[in-house]
Amino acid sequence: MDISMKGKKIVILTGAGISAESGVKTFRDNDGLWENHRIEDVATPEAWIKDPMLVWRFYQARRNQLLEVEPNPAHLALADLESKAESLTLITQNVDDLHERGGSESVIHMHGQLRTLRCENTHQTEVRMDKKDLGENFVYCNCCSEPSRMRPDIVWFGEIPMEMDKIYQSVEDCDVFIVIGSSGHVYPAAGLVNLANSNGAHSILVNYELPINGSDFDEVHIGKAGEILNNG
Ligand code: NAD
Repeated sequence: MDISMKGKKIVILTGAGISAESGVKTFRDNDGLWENHRIEDVATPEAWIKDPMLVWRFYQARRNQLLEVEPNPAHLALADLESKAESLTLITQNVDDLHERGGSESVIHMHGQLRTLRCENTHQTEVRMDKKDLGENFVYCNCCSEPSRMRPDIVWFGEIPMEMDKIYQSVEDCDVFIVIGSSGHVYPAAGLVNLANSNGAHSILVNYELPINGSDFDEVHIGKAGEILNNG
């Protein structure tokens, strides 16, 4: 795929598929990460109220997995593109840190991040990835005089994604909008292609299979992200 788009404003949206080649399970594929859990039981504010320990253990497993996985050629290709592009905004639905570890300097995590935790009292976030933070017990904040429990810094179903003003502005303003590794099921992310199209951008999809919103794109590349982004 030719993404040497000199002088163009590029916005890229990545989803779970870009981390699949690193061994991070995607969301809806057959061996998807939700395993035996229902989404409602582990990824909603109601679940956190009802059974915080179940939710905590689910996310602690995901947080621990970050220590075992590495960025793949797709992450590296985007970091390389960022270093060469005149204007590139990288938005990810992913909560892993593989874009950053692959060398991307500026990443908008619209669905939050695993490596940070959020104080339930002040909502301040802290990077908490030391060994003592990755066990089965709840973690307590450093910001309150009497430390408060921290929750995963994740946007759960029913919550509003982060940095939406900045995201809408960059998508409205871009010349090229590229989505990589997303099934197009989770909104508002899945609707951003329509916003880009209606503002005249050229939209490109890179995905392993044609997703539900595949027909919304001007250009479609079917295959593995690591191969397509590196082989043209
Ligand atoms: P999704 O799992 O719904 O869809 C992933 C898509 O990627 C699928 O269409 C699949 O065909 C495609 N895919 C799989 N392997 C690929 C590859 N090697 N190259 C290119 N495409 C590939 O993911 P989504 O649309 O991002 O929505 C999932 C939600 O779950 C998001 O909100 C995200 O926050 C969360 N999630 C994040 C991670 C992560 O941080 N790595 C992992 C799973 C889920």
